[in-house]
Amino acid sequence: MSKKVLVLGEVREGSLRNVSFEAIAAGTQIADGGEVVGLIVGDSVAGVASELVEYGANRVVTVEHPHLKTYTSDGYSQAILAVIEQEKPDAIVFGHTSLGKDLSPKIASRLNAGLVSDVTEIQGAGDDVVFIRPIYSGKAFEKVKVKEGVIFATIRPNNIAPLAKAAGRAGDVSSVSVDITNLRTIIKEVVRKSTEGVDLSEAKVVVAGGRGVKSEDGFAPLYELAKLLGGAVGASRGACDADYCDYSLQIGQTGKVVTPDLYIAAGISGAIQHVAGMSNSKVIVAINKDPEANIFKIADYGIVGDLFEVIPMLIEEFKALKVGA
Ligand code: FAD
Repeated sequence: MSKKVLVLGEVREGSLRNVSFEAIAAGTQIADGGEVVGLIVGDSVAGVASELVEYGANRVVTVEHPHLKTYTSDGYSQAILAVIEQEKPDAIVFGHTSLGKDLSPKIASRLNAGLVSDVTEIQGAGDDVVFIRPIYSGKAFEKVKVKEGVIFATIRPNNIAPLAKAAGRAGDVSSVSVDITNLRTIIKEVVRKSTEGVDLSEAKVVVAGGRGVKSEDGFAPLYELAKLLGGAVGASRGACDADYCDYSLQIGQTGKVVTPDLYIAAGISGAIQHVAGMSNSKVIVAINKDPEANIFKIADYGIVGDLFEVIPMLIEEFKALKVGA
């Protein structure tokens, strides 16, 4: 049977994050011919609503309020619960982002519903929908079928391809007025870490450095390579603990989970806690001096060598390819 699916579009600095379009694709599959309703929450966000329609939503509902300018779980959950009350969806899809991870369990528990988190693939559709998600730090995958109640799911960025954008596609955009009250926290200011370049969690190419990079300055060639490939720089916890880079770059069990098309691991040994955050990358290239390093067990391409020799060579080769192209 077809379903009505509500999909949260995530806005950051005035633009929808890519995972929002992937969530619309997931919602479309779950809906199985039913209705996909995009939802955007914030302050002055209606301008981006039509983009959700262009990516496949049938229509979009917005909730705008000055108290929703920055994310708080109190404010956003009030807004989303009001829309759920009005729309009565069969399923709700969030991105498996910091926001989605924080918000989805809170709302699901309010509705006494289950939550399938960190979904990397969806099989079937409608009543037969099956969610695939990694378990045991990515060592195995489980299949989950929700048998009753509203389905809540968060989808891991970069795993479910968005639908083709149909520029100019029309769909209704309506607003719901919600009085956001009793906030226990008010965010007065958001101080961002340096956000130059591509967002690590959504990057198609990640160049990650480990303790083998040896210093903060050692990361410079990694930044150069990442920039050349249109990607982002990541790091192991070893590198973060050694103060070579900021913890916002940490990938792994206690850091970010990434699924780029290309992951280049330089001077990273491949500890299980690191691998948990990147093993689903489509192509993994490992650069390590130690031929026995664990990272080679999961790498598609392994380069045994000194990263300070290998990375400059890669930079030169990619530059030459770009010039030739
Ligand atoms: P190392 O293990 O020291 O490896 C450095 C590698 O660099 C070595 O393989 C070496 O051969 C190579 N190397 C050295 N010099 C060069 C060179 N010039 N050229 C090429 N290669 C070189 N870790 C994470 O990454 N993410 C997490 O989220 C995370 N969460 C954790 C949670 C818990 C509860 C615990 C206990 C640990 C966690 N860790 C995490 C830490 C993890 O166990 C490892 O300690 C960490 O990943 C090691 O980082 P590394 O590979 O950079 O360093």
